[in-house]
Amino acid sequence: MNLHEYQGKSILNSFGVAIQRGKVVDKIEDAVAAAKELSAETGTEWYVVKAQIHAGGRGKGTVEETGSHGVVLAKGIDKVEDTVKGILGGHLETAQTNGVGKLVGKVLICEDVYYPGASEPEEYYMSVLLDRERGRNVIIYSTEGGMDIETVAEETPHLIHKEEVDPRVGLQGFQLRKIAFNLGLSGAGFKGMTKFIKSLYSAYEGCDAAMFEINPVLKTSDDKIIAVDAKVTLDGSGLFRHPDYAAMRDKTEEDPTEVEADEAGLNFVKLDGNVGCMVNGAGLAMATMDIIKLSGGNPANFLDVGGTADAERVEKAFAIILKDPNVKAILINIFGGIVRCDRVAQGVVDAYKNFGQFPVPLIVRLQGTNAAEAKKLIDDSGLDVQSVVLLQEAADKVKEVLA
Ligand code: GDP
Ligand code: MN
Repeated sequence: MNLHEYQGKSILNSFGVAIQRGKVVDKIEDAVAAAKELSAETGTEWYVVKAQIHAGGRGKGTVEETGSHGVVLAKGIDKVEDTVKGILGGHLETAQTNGVGKLVGKVLICEDVYYPGASEPEEYYMSVLLDRERGRNVIIYSTEGGMDIETVAEETPHLIHKEEVDPRVGLQGFQLRKIAFNLGLSGAGFKGMTKFIKSLYSAYEGCDAAMFEINPVLKTSDDKIIAVDAKVTLDGSGLFRHPDYAAMRDKTEEDPTEVEADEAGLNFVKLDGNVGCMVNGAGLAMATMDIIKLSGGNPANFLDVGGTADAERVEKAFAIILKDPNVKAILINIFGGIVRCDRVAQGVVDAYKNFGQFPVPLIVRLQGTNAAEAKKLIDDSGLDVQSVVLLQEAADKVKEVLA
């Protein structure tokens, strides 16, 4: 589950990571009050207004309606109000929004942290994430912060460093010092950075995150180390342990079909093929997708209906699969273990009937307890449903109906 910057920063703050402070608003009327409150707390007269969407590159992005950027520096309260007007409620397009503007429902009004002082502010890049191949958490960091890290990785890969954390001993003091050293820090900046990394790592572990990406981490002109941006992805499977984080979910940022499936308790991932699949169990779903590929089709989705494939769930699953105009056929492949095949078959028949005009060919394979009864039920239903026994037959039928 992805979070907005303001949510990620509030988590960081709760773990003792220093952040650029801000107030989030969803109405223009609240912007002035928020800016006043912020300057009462921080003494700032310079503000940064930041669009809250689930995409990076906001600073260089453009609001379609007004031409404003998604991250804008503003001096004084009146300017804050003007700036918010140019961003809130508009559609922000960035290099990461796939060619469409995303509706900005909230803006974060922040203190300016790039103030002049004894030294130039410095931007760094830092992320903590799970390296699945190595089975370890890694800290990735670079002196080249503030810009697109993919470009840095391509053009100057030697400027990106990796520090692996051994899960048996956790993040060690020498590693904190090595990272701060490699970032070229000394004195207060060095000390601040070691504390920053330590708290950042504890935040990553403490909230069952999949990734924390802070770009930029800033060394202010008076040597404070703070998080200016925060891109946080939490592990969806760990959310049951964190109801407060689960409540941060913004469904408007997610694929609407996936949200609908999730609400119906179906495990659904949209893909870009032409054969819809309805399967129980993730392993069988993977095997089914493979056999579709081998027979010359392409899976349009991954859909695990779970243990109870009754008429209601099957109907919901049909509705979700058929939202995709690319679907040219549907293959149901269900193993009846605890749930009996004849019950599933009845569910399929009822759902098919309730649908009225079923728009694409339907191929059904039910194996396991009461499979023969199930096949009979479907064959006798008088509906235009093809029932098959073997997985290979299912694949051949898919090939046939796509031809
Ligand atoms: P992103 O473009 O979506 O990654 O958004 P960021 O939060 O990283 O902000 C983009 C850029 O805005 C940063 O790299 C900074 O250069 C700039 N920026 C952010 N906060 C401040 C600030 O407080 N003062 C100034 N002057 N610039 C800022
Ligand atoms: Mn950023």
